[in-house]
Amino acid sequence: MISPIRQCAQCGGGLRPKSVAHTQTWGEGIYRVENVPAWVCAQCGEVWLSAEVSQTIDRLVAKPPRAKRYEKVPVYSYPAPAVSR
Ligand SMILES: [Zn+2]
Repeated sequence: MISPIRQCAQCGGGLRPKSVAHTQTWGEGIYRVENVPAWVCAQCGEVWLSAEVSQTIDRLVAKPPRAKRYEKVPVYSYPAPAVSR
């Protein structure tokens, strides 16, 4: 069941379908999943994943297939909360 999200819950802007790279933590691992079908807000750029896509990612990282490739990625915490209105 596909449940598209049509409006940004942050700012109410319109969402556009877009493939994104999503980073998911699971246990002690960090998983980067590319070509994730997401909805990106045209106004604030917030990325939204449908429940179905989130579940698919959860399943994928819980039992990952052979990785497409490996990257050593330094991961940082964003220094300040995102600007909200
Ligand atoms: Zn928005």
